[in-house]
Amino acid sequence: MDRQVDLVIIGAGPGGMTAALYASRAGLNTVMLDASAPGGKLLKTYLIDNYPGLPETPGPDLAVQMYQQSVAFGASFQAGEVEKVNADKQVFLKNGDVIDAKAVIIATGTKERLLSVPGEQEAIGHGESFCAVCDGAFFRNKEVVVIGGGNSALEEAQFLTKFASKVTIVIRRDEFRAERKVQQGVEENDKIHVIKHHIVSEVKMTDGKVSGVVLENVETKDKITLPCAGLFPYIGSIPETGMVKDLGITDEQGYIIANEQMETAVKGIYAVGDCIQKDLRQVVTAAGDGAVAAQMAFHFVTGI
Ligand code: NAP
Repeated sequence: MDRQVDLVIIGAGPGGMTAALYASRAGLNTVMLDASAPGGKLLKTYLIDNYPGLPETPGPDLAVQMYQQSVAFGASFQAGEVEKVNADKQVFLKNGDVIDAKAVIIATGTKERLLSVPGEQEAIGHGESFCAVCDGAFFRNKEVVVIGGGNSALEEAQFLTKFASKVTIVIRRDEFRAERKVQQGVEENDKIHVIKHHIVSEVKMTDGKVSGVVLENVETKDKITLPCAGLFPYIGSIPETGMVKDLGITDEQGYIIANEQMETAVKGIYAVGDCIQKDLRQVVTAAGDGAVAAQMAFHFVTGI
């Protein structure tokens, strides 16, 4: 199926949904695509407490509100995985559909970085999860391990204490990367224990389920086995930008290079949110990027 629209937005997280809101409100015929349900990482976030005007809102609730507003002015949402975008702003979907757009906004975000250790592939979905909000309840009264010292790891570890009997956070240095306020929450939580100077070297399975992790001391190389029923790695992210890799608009890590107008090096192709090279990856910065990109796309498409 070939069709023509003013604007295709790839990715329906906060950046993409804000772009859809602004673009459709300005009158552009806008299609927003996502391989999954709209919401992006909001769907995997327990609480958002730093989006202005919304104190302590569950991530999935904010996703629903943003989605409803993003389509309220006529933008449409289509489930679909994008394989490639070319410099003529043709968007090729994996199901064979092609959409000819006058402008494209890439808002694809990032995907979780894997531990890449023996046992991990078998463990994913059988005790290893990247979404505490989705899977935390499966670990009621069980022990779980969280890997990583960033905001994601520490926030989701706190969420997991609602269910788990004990949450152990494993970090490879002797200090966290997360913001001070998030660290305080961890320090004040009796159910959370911290192991420093260790990395995971193997995931252990028993009867097809995660039963423990082998931890290696980064200094002495000594190994210990930590029994657990659940494993939640939050060790950073990789940009989801494979569909534009031939356009020469990404850096060596795969992040898209965009200027303050969210323009990439290809005219009419914009990029927003976590998938771009930037310092602060937040819901509010993604939303801001989305508004700017939509406005720039409006000028580009209409010539106004
Ligand atoms: P991150 O900030 O990049 O932290 C990744 C953590 O994983 C670091 O502690 C890092 O250790 C560790 N790590 C990386 N590779 C590892 C490995 N192979 N083995 C063990 N540990 C490893 O990632 P994030 O927490 O997912 O956050 C991503 C971005 O989103 C950040 O900009 C963050 O601020 C933002 N974010 C913000 C909020 C919020 O504002 N509430 C919430 C979530 C995320 P080192 O520290 O030793 O490098």
